[in-house]
Amino acid sequence: APATMRELVDAGRAHGEQEFLVYQQKRLSFTQFFDKVDALGHYLINNKAIAKGERVAIAMRNCPEWMVAYAAIVSVGAVVVPLNSWGSADELSYCLKDAGAKLLICDPARLQLTKPLLKSLNCQAIVTGDNSNTDESIGNFDDIITQNRGKALPTTACAANDIAQIMYTSGTTGRPKGAVSSHKNICQAIYSFEFHAICSAMANPKAIEKMFAGGFAPCTLLSVPLFHVSGCYAAFLLNLRGGRKTVMMYKWSPEEALELISKERVTIFSAVPSMVMDLLRHPDVDSSDTSSLFSLGGGGAACPPAFKETISNTLSSSYVGTGYGMTESNAICASCTGDAFMYKPDSAGILSPLVEWQTRDEQGQPLPAGASGEIWLKSVCNIKQYWNKPDANNINFDGNWMATGDIGYLDEENFVYLVGRAKDLIIRGGENIYPAEIEACLSLHPSISEAAIIAVPDERLGEVPGAVIKPRDGAEICHDDIKSYLSNKLAAYKIPQNIWISSQDLPRNASGKILKSELVRQYID
Ligand code: AMP
Ligand code: MG
Repeated sequence: APATMRELVDAGRAHGEQEFLVYQQKRLSFTQFFDKVDALGHYLINNKAIAKGERVAIAMRNCPEWMVAYAAIVSVGAVVVPLNSWGSADELSYCLKDAGAKLLICDPARLQLTKPLLKSLNCQAIVTGDNSNTDESIGNFDDIITQNRGKALPTTACAANDIAQIMYTSGTTGRPKGAVSSHKNICQAIYSFEFHAICSAMANPKAIEKMFAGGFAPCTLLSVPLFHVSGCYAAFLLNLRGGRKTVMMYKWSPEEALELISKERVTIFSAVPSMVMDLLRHPDVDSSDTSSLFSLGGGGAACPPAFKETISNTLSSSYVGTGYGMTESNAICASCTGDAFMYKPDSAGILSPLVEWQTRDEQGQPLPAGASGEIWLKSVCNIKQYWNKPDANNINFDGNWMATGDIGYLDEENFVYLVGRAKDLIIRGGENIYPAEIEACLSLHPSISEAAIIAVPDERLGEVPGAVIKPRDGAEICHDDIKSYLSNKLAAYKIPQNIWISSQDLPRNASGKILKSELVRQYID
């Protein structure tokens, strides 16, 4: 594997005039992509004086500029900070401040949200889109590329263990935590994806034959956000290195996905399970030309039971797969495709050869092989720390072992099974939501006495948050008040659509903790 992100990214230069990126009306070759990377990298060092190790944040919806910014930042030895673009003003500002970002590269919508605070954070900005912005302190992305075209990408000496990235993930205790990855952590993760791709191809010769017989060049449909490890690594970085075309969507739409698959001859579609299901259940799936598709997969959230059945009955000439990992493991833990997937469809995948596995009991003691407990992982891809979070670091790291917060076991054939979570977490279509964060917001509402967030099963998204609320004595509160109150503080996907108002105190156990299982029984079962 390459030792630094610069080496990792630079491998893509070899693909020259081949097509790299298709996005709406735009098409970029590898050469055109790197021309932009070089221009921006030059500007970061020479005009913005970004030094090695300084943090540069990205906050944009999926767009080509996101990828250019990412490649430029890591190539010049700065630390890239990808932010969740669905974040509220409050969430984005918190992360910029926590990371101590010196510069933010964002789209106009994210500039609107963060602008009031940028000055006090001492953070400069570069914004995409038209250049009608009159604020001198805010640079325009396209202007910068044009003005620096042809300039060389500066070299910064980086070592494998230097910090390359801080990726924010929702936090158990309310605030997002920055997962700190070294160059080596990410390089090894990408290497592991490459290894997995080769193994999958060898294990599924019929699908590969189909691809060659049809004359289809490898091409990935990217429908998940770039600010998560799945989109950033499994699509963007893997394709950049491997010379594969990436067809990128701004937002998920199964109709558009079907059109793109047939028009661009997409061969690989890997997303969260809810998207794969949307596609397979779409009324147009049978009349669409999906003949180029040979690999189909969904990870990052539990696959609904219907997933495995539907997926193996539709598009039967493709192979399917799943994967299990997390931001903190740089996506690497378990994966499987094809026959291995159908052999044990309830498994989350086969343990990666890079990963050592352990389960522990509630006292933190290691359990015997095969026993179910909290999963701890040791791997060259794991982060070693959260940024600025000593307490979380104490709890989640033990020497080279890292806690996952997931409960599961490993069978005698190295297949991983997930059976629950030690952390109170809701995964809505692949997007993590920590109830504690919403509960903390609700508890500050003047008319709310008690609030608890529970997981409500959802056919499409797996689970969605629901709120049980007890108003203060004499206070009147309605669903719309609660939603509009939360929407000023939290990203839209976190806002509960199911809200139950309770006149009773919420049930608690002896130590005063709200009994969520009891709420689930009352409101959901
Ligand atoms: P994130 O850091 O946002 O990628 O979320 C990681 C979490 O998603 C894991 O700790 C699991 O709880 C969950 N997860 C990831 N992959 C799977 C899977 N294949 N099946 C069930 N849960 C998963
Ligand atoms: Mg996730």
